[in-house]
Amino acid sequence: MTEIAIPGPEVASDAGLLNRLTRIFGASPFTTLEAARQELAVDRGTFRRLVDTLARVPELRAAVLGGPAGKYWSKTVLPLERAGVIDNIVQRRAVYPHIVALYPGPTCMFRCHFCVRVTGARYQQDAVDSGNAMFASVIDEMPVDNPHAMYISGGLEPLTNPGLGGLITRAARRGFKMDLYTNSFALTDRTLQRQPGLWDLHRLRTSMYGLDDDEYEQTTGKRAAFGRVKANLVNLQRLRASRENPLRLGFSYIVLPGRAWRLLELADFIAELNEVAPHRPVDFLDIREDYSGRPNGKLPPAERAELQDALGAFNERVSARAPSLHVDYGYALHAVMTGTDAELIRLRPESMRPSAHIQAGVQIDLLGDVYLYREAGFPGLTGAHRYIAGRVEPGTALSDVVRSHLANGRTIDPLDGDEYFLDGFDQVVTARLNQVEADIAAGWGDVRGLLR
Ligand code: SF4
Repeated sequence: MTEIAIPGPEVASDAGLLNRLTRIFGASPFTTLEAARQELAVDRGTFRRLVDTLARVPELRAAVLGGPAGKYWSKTVLPLERAGVIDNIVQRRAVYPHIVALYPGPTCMFRCHFCVRVTGARYQQDAVDSGNAMFASVIDEMPVDNPHAMYISGGLEPLTNPGLGGLITRAARRGFKMDLYTNSFALTDRTLQRQPGLWDLHRLRTSMYGLDDDEYEQTTGKRAAFGRVKANLVNLQRLRASRENPLRLGFSYIVLPGRAWRLLELADFIAELNEVAPHRPVDFLDIREDYSGRPNGKLPPAERAELQDALGAFNERVSARAPSLHVDYGYALHAVMTGTDAELIRLRPESMRPSAHIQAGVQIDLLGDVYLYREAGFPGLTGAHRYIAGRVEPGTALSDVVRSHLANGRTIDPLDGDEYFLDGFDQVVTARLNQVEADIAAGWGDVRGLLR
């Protein structure tokens, strides 16, 4: 990281310490203030002056955000702080969850090898109608001040619910910009005709599990699935263009170990979809790296170098063949791209928060069960029932579930393996809350968390 020129003579004498402070929080955003103070070996008065200066000088703030782990700040921590979510949790306010995920899929046609779902477990078909009525009540109940407060995902595959389009239209009429996460296997022309509400989506995000039939079969267990997904997306591209529908189309793609160079084929695949509708190119792509099973969440140097090369080549291919594509590299790949070291948060059960963070987000399944973590909402998943805050059902609204969860003061003792119920968002929220509460306990309440 380059040195920051510190404007103003009154802070110039602290320049060295301030640069070190920005480096600490640019590389390790969840450091506690006391740990940072001890690393700088300064007394509390000096440290307070440094923290106050950092909050005041935009160049220093920008240096923290521009650090190797800056995406944690810019993508998640600061937006949550600005929305007051962290304060709501710390002060145990009973408010609507900041983000509500609806998990309406009764089943899934794939069996991905990395998926936590229990083979064969599904929701009964007779749960679909009552579940959709429950989702409708949640959509009607949610305050409309944040248009991005709800999205649809799983859990299981949302497109296996025949009432999905109706729910999307209902939410769109209330002003919500709905995102759908899907594998797009069932996104056929017939589905689009039967569920016209799908055209009311704000964004449709397809999780890609490979770039040919063999790769798909290895990952999902389903034969000839890539060809079908591709045909569905080509059709969607054509229709989206001819209808002049504002739906935004994009992908999620996980780079599996040893497969970094497949990214070039991903760029070509997106370019092919663009050729179908040159005036409506694919809008976005989220790429993530699979860090599961890596000690300390770190990549071995040789693999990191290969990944960096492959990302560079991918970038060039995108610039040449799909220049309007918005690519999001996530927390860690962004650092790899820039040749700096970064690691993902690796929470252990002892770092999990016994009361979780219901004000930040919940997931609701077809039964109305309100899950506290994003990867817990699968039927029959061992131990996941302990992370159900309550059930939305006739006579019990989502707001009642939140209120009683907080009023009861219910806590959950985490067991080994429970950390896998948390996805990247849950992990960031947890790490931030642990940091903020440690800062408050250490007497730094007014400046807790460094940046807001
Ligand atoms: S990861 Fe998604 S598509 Fe794959 S089996 Fe699990 S729910 Fe189905």
